[in-house]
Amino acid sequence: MNKEIFFTCPYCGEENTVDIDITAGSDQEFIQDCEVCCRPAEIKLTIDRDGGISVETKNDEGF
Ligand SMILES: [Zn+2]
Repeated sequence: MNKEIFFTCPYCGEENTVDIDITAGSDQEFIQDCEVCCRPAEIKLTIDRDGGISVETKNDEGF
């Protein structure tokens, strides 16, 4: 099951959307290139029992 989430690019601050597979696990980490500046944002997702999704982003310097 896929769900669209929003994240803010850690480089340029633009909002991006990405489709994730919420059945793939409650903790997921992946790299998604920003649609605006094309730099690789590191995304960390946590999905809670109620289906709430929290998104953390990092750039390649760890912020
Ligand atoms: Zn960007």
